[in-house]
Amino acid sequence: MKFLVTGGAGFIGSAVIRHLIDHTEHELVNVDKLTYAGNLESLTAVSGNPRYVFEHADICDAGAMARIFAEHRPDVVMHLAAESHVDRSIDGPAAFIGTNILGTYTLLEAARHYWQALEGSARDEFRFHHISTDEVYGDLALEGDTLFTETTAYEPSSPYSASKAASDHLVRAWQRTYGLPTLVTNCSNNYGPFHFPEKLVPLMILNALEGKPLPVYGDGSQVRDWLYVEDHARALVTVACEGKVGETYNIGGHNECKNIDVVNTICAILEELAPAKPAGVERYLDLITHVADRPGHDLRYAIDASKIERELGWRPQETFETGIRKTVAWYLANGEWSRRVQDGSYERERLGDTETQGQLQ
Ligand code: NAD
Repeated sequence: MKFLVTGGAGFIGSAVIRHLIDHTEHELVNVDKLTYAGNLESLTAVSGNPRYVFEHADICDAGAMARIFAEHRPDVVMHLAAESHVDRSIDGPAAFIGTNILGTYTLLEAARHYWQALEGSARDEFRFHHISTDEVYGDLALEGDTLFTETTAYEPSSPYSASKAASDHLVRAWQRTYGLPTLVTNCSNNYGPFHFPEKLVPLMILNALEGKPLPVYGDGSQVRDWLYVEDHARALVTVACEGKVGETYNIGGHNECKNIDVVNTICAILEELAPAKPAGVERYLDLITHVADRPGHDLRYAIDASKIERELGWRPQETFETGIRKTVAWYLANGEWSRRVQDGSYERERLGDTETQGQLQ
């Protein structure tokens, strides 16, 4: 089959592409605008493969999307392109409304016109798989064991999660109204190699290695369910190939952990794997600095991933302990990648603090 992957130069999209090239025989087209978050360097291991093609394009560009569908004639669309960082959505929501809502709409329309002109098995087997987040469900009480299921009501808190919620509704409406064969997945926090250093895990690893403060929002008690990105990539390809049209699948790592415990774990692994510290640093833990909490910060996310396990046989292979160790080791071995993807416009400063907006911390 031929896959059209949007956002394939990003963190999760690049893991999906590496998975498709390394573990399947499928062909694929990567459609990416290459924003600050898109890095073709994450694909150097696979980009020479004849089954891989890159299209530098914006999903909001209807003409470009129509051309790409007509030229490449995909069997499956996996839609990952998005503005994805909550803190950036607080500082500048416009890009999130543009790409996540209007971009998804534009892509849906291009896919619908292409699909409506298909015939026979090509039409029956076409799939549009939309990749979304558990943040659309809002948050859960810190205490208790409630989990997000596929039927949990939407209650997004941030401009990011509200824009993703809107895109999920559009995808489901295109299925219900036009019959477009869609699938939706909502996943928990991903971590792993090739993660842009603005997100918690890579930010902590890289700051610690340079002896910089490790900024923990509030008291760090927020709970996230951590999913190793390669487990997620495998789940996504399983859903795209075997999922039931019109269905939603929640994907989680069965790894609930407080943010502060994530940071403590990273410090402990670094003590072991990188004992030679920058001058003046006695213990990595001493670099932890509590900073003002994120406005509207969700308390707890936790996914019930039993449906995808029951119906499609997927389970994560990594525990948080094994996955985070692999991740720290990857950043230690790939310092050059981290240096190159930060092009100077982002220097790991605090984003999304409405009190200090625009100031570096
Ligand atoms: P990312 O920010 O690392 O990558 C996004 C990619 O999309 C980049 O390559 C960027 O260049 C591209 N892109 C952005 N705007 C575009 C546009 N207008 N046209 C074409 N390409 C564009 O994101 P990610 O972490 O890989 O997330 C991928 C998807 O998974 C997103 O839809 C996100 O909402 C969802 N998701 C992510 C997480 C997570 O923990 N990272 C969790 C749940 C859901």
